[in-house]
Amino acid sequence: MKIGWFSFTCSEDSTILWIELMNDNFFKWKELLDIRHARVLKRNNTLKDIDVAFVEGAITTDRDAKKLMEIRKNAKKLVAVGSCAINGMPSAQRNLFDEKLKKEIAFLLVRFNQADKVRSIKEIVTVDDEVPGCPMDEGAFFRTLDKYLQEFGVTNAH
Ligand code: SF4
Repeated sequence: MKIGWFSFTCSEDSTILWIELMNDNFFKWKELLDIRHARVLKRNNTLKDIDVAFVEGAITTDRDAKKLMEIRKNAKKLVAVGSCAINGMPSAQRNLFDEKLKKEIAFLLVRFNQADKVRSIKEIVTVDDEVPGCPMDEGAFFRTLDKYLQEFGVTNAH
């Protein structure tokens, strides 16, 4: 199964957890997964022909929103990983700042080309599945992975 792992604005804990899971699963996954895009693992990445895109984090810039739409266009399935991707929080905290705080950070939004509002993945693209948790729940991740391995006709990993 061809997968991509993507991380937008967040603490990237689910990405770290995924890497940690490789301690036990690397050789199994090596046979089952063609990791076509994962900047945390490799330099040469492609967006082409991805079966399942796992996407972590919230969207804070228009540029990232476009990247996300590009991922969606190239992936048959898209899974929102972790709370920030699913509902924006806690990465979207600044959406809840009062007017005074919003004024205080306004120059930073300009300096770093930030959008006025932080958005979840779900606010921008259609999501096929969610792996909840902060960071992601391991069991839910395995269940989602297994579901798509079956759906794409790849032998079950667990
Ligand atoms: S959901 Fe939690 S663990 Fe994952 S990136 Fe957001 S803050 Fe970090």
